[in-house]
Amino acid sequence: MRIIIVGPPGAGKGTQAKLIVKDFHIIQLSTGDLLREHRRQETKLGQAAIKYMDGGNLVPDEVILGMVAEEFKKPELKPGYILDGFPRTCPQAKGLDQLLEDRGLALDHVLVLEVPDSELVRRLTARRSCSECGHIYNMVFNPPAVDGICDLDGSPLIHRSDDTEETVVNRLGVYKKQTKPLIDHYQPQGVVRHIDGTGDMQDIYQRILAVLK
Ligand code: ADP
Ligand code: ADP
Repeated sequence: MRIIIVGPPGAGKGTQAKLIVKDFHIIQLSTGDLLREHRRQETKLGQAAIKYMDGGNLVPDEVILGMVAEEFKKPELKPGYILDGFPRTCPQAKGLDQLLEDRGLALDHVLVLEVPDSELVRRLTARRSCSECGHIYNMVFNPPAVDGICDLDGSPLIHRSDDTEETVVNRLGVYKKQTKPLIDHYQPQGVVRHIDGTGDMQDIYQRILAVLK
């Protein structure tokens, strides 16, 4: 199964992707996570990405496509994957079409999570994630048992440098201008599924399951 999950920052892409991965035994490929790993390891790519990410702007398409093409070589992706945060522009969608075509593959679903802006700002400013395993928390909606500590592995939680109110507002604008139009790119393939991304996380997951099964 090959899925794309699209939605504005804070829509719950990462949260829902992790639930899907567990049930369907496929891999989550998050370009945001890959970029943060590059930054952590201080690679050239990571250092070049800092100014875009911290300003809430997109990293150039050719950088992203090069990074994804490398990932696509990995055998772990054979059983299927959920692409989280990629593609984010029409040129990236075309690049992905080419990667899939080269392998004789097609997408099964493009899940579009719909959440109003006011809710996104509330979610993102309270988002925290585990510095080691990447598990996602929210100080308001799903806090860890012990403040600042991951329930799963006891590591400290971090607040992403781009989850500030100012950057979030820019990221929402970038989503509307550069990412939302790519939903139209997938319409002719008949794979676009709109999902109501509001309410309880498990209820949203049930809506996704209804579409996937
Ligand atoms: P969120 O899920 O909150 O939208 P991500 O973790 O997916 O955030 O992405 C964080 C930042 O990383 C983005 O604001 C952007 O700067 C960069 N980024 C991630 N994926 C892409 C992509 N496919 N194209 C361009 N930039 C990206
Ligand atoms: P994205 O990957 O789309 O940027 P995340 O999955 O990281 O979004 O979720 C953003 C924040 O919102 C996190 O703090 C997460 O715990 C929280 N969150 C996710 N889904 C919900 C929901 N249904 N209700 C409330 N908060 C949520």
